[in-house]
Amino acid sequence: MFGTGMLAAEATFGVLNDNSNMEAYWDALRNSWVWEELHKARNYRPAFEYGLFPGLAISAFEHYITKGRSPFTLKHRKPDHEATNVARLHSPIQYPKPDGVLSFDILTSVHRSNTNHEHDQPAHLRLKDPKIPELVNLPEYAGPESRYCPARVYEYVADEKGEPKLHINAQNCLHCKACDIKDPKQNIEWTVPEGGGGPGYSAM
Ligand code: SF4
Repeated sequence: MFGTGMLAAEATFGVLNDNSNMEAYWDALRNSWVWEELHKARNYRPAFEYGLFPGLAISAFEHYITKGRSPFTLKHRKPDHEATNVARLHSPIQYPKPDGVLSFDILTSVHRSNTNHEHDQPAHLRLKDPKIPELVNLPEYAGPESRYCPARVYEYVADEKGEPKLHINAQNCLHCKACDIKDPKQNIEWTVPEGGGGPGYSAM
């Protein structure tokens, strides 16, 4: 992700400088170590669509025999958001608390990312149907947006009647787009924030 971001930044800088177009990004990506690494690893994850043992066998074949040069590319059978199971099929995972050395709490991590948003810009995260979180996401999926978002942008907080209601802290967003990809009902309308402020942004 960091590598593709750097390539995008370099290509964008080139666009601003020489008036070419964003095709430069794709050219840079295709000619980079990022593309080479992703291409070599492209079959590992979809191989497990065929089950654990076929997945292990195909992955081993890819890794040790063809070394990523297989003449085929396996596909996922369904998009990511359809791969989310309902919560009743799983047990909650108890994660260890951050140790402050190698792992950090969310607020510290968001602060260190140096993400910046202008406070008066239009909201870049909107719900297509504002009722879906409380009617579907929370009861069926245990509110996955409050779990996969790395910046705790989505929080279920009690309203004046004590009922859980989704609250969106859009100013904390790190622009990873996990919510856009993973929301089970594809209910999040994600638009690019103003100003290019993102992780590592500096207003200097
Ligand atoms: S884009 Fe990433 S950081 Fe931003 S709200 Fe979605 S999941 Fe959270």
